[in-house]
Amino acid sequence: MALITNDLRKKCAIVTGAGKGIGRAIALGLADCGVNTVLASRTGDDLQVLKKEIEAKGGHALAVPTDVSTQGDVKNLVSQAVGAFGGVNIIINNAGVGKFGPLEHTSLETWDRIMAINARGPFLLCRECIPHLRKHDRSFIINIGSVVSVKGYINQAAYSASKHALMGMSKALAKEVQKDGIRVHMVCPGGVDTDMVGDARPDLDRSILIQPQEVADTVLFLLAQSGNACMDEIYIRRDSSMPWA
Ligand code: NAP
Repeated sequence: MALITNDLRKKCAIVTGAGKGIGRAIALGLADCGVNTVLASRTGDDLQVLKKEIEAKGGHALAVPTDVSTQGDVKNLVSQAVGAFGGVNIIINNAGVGKFGPLEHTSLETWDRIMAINARGPFLLCRECIPHLRKHDRSFIINIGSVVSVKGYINQAAYSASKHALMGMSKALAKEVQKDGIRVHMVCPGGVDTDMVGDARPDLDRSILIQPQEVADTVLFLLAQSGNACMDEIYIRRDSSMPWA
């Protein structure tokens, strides 16, 4: 008997960083499953294009320009989501930024900005959403980490610190909200073919990178679980990278 039967239709999901890259692919995948999607990132034009694409396929989407590092923006995002769709079942903390270089040459502004978006943002959204998630039988928080949530790479100290922070928060939060039927997952990909990698590593052969759709499929797999199995963390590496490294 298949246990992957969770019916996602008419659930409400907030996706941060939905304007492009991985977040866009996740939002489209959710919409294809009948989820009402709340699209959040700073660039309103990106969100409007995506909203139209979802609606053209018969889906429902709300675009809320948001800076996840700002408490007021996050409160507005959640209140608009609840107003439009009557509650929140799923949050995808995907918005993130990277700026890479030796720690010695990392400015305080860069450190603070990366931590504010990659770590404080998910904290603010989780805190705001928990009372809403708790109202449903099974709710989900999916945090998009990185292989650097568990490893350190040269020239990625600030980014790695922010993704380790997200991992630490996820581990603690998963225990705090387990009793409320809220599942907290970390999805930790290696190099994905998006603007983030294109900007940081123009030298890379992008054909060997993970596709955003593959990360979206992993998220949908977690959301489809309706049985007793729960995968806390999924680590996704490029198949050309070293196994078990
Ligand atoms: P991307 O293509 O650069 O897209 C990032 C998205 O986040 C954009 O829509 C951006 O829109 C939004 N964003 C940035 N700052 C924001 C803020 N303060 N508030 C709200 N939205 C914000 O990046 P991506 O590669 O898809 O990355 C998505 C997530 O995956 C990030 O958390 C990243 O760390 C993680 N990740 C990426 C890779 C990779 O290789 N690409 C690997 C592992 C993990 P605006 O600028 O308009 O706000």
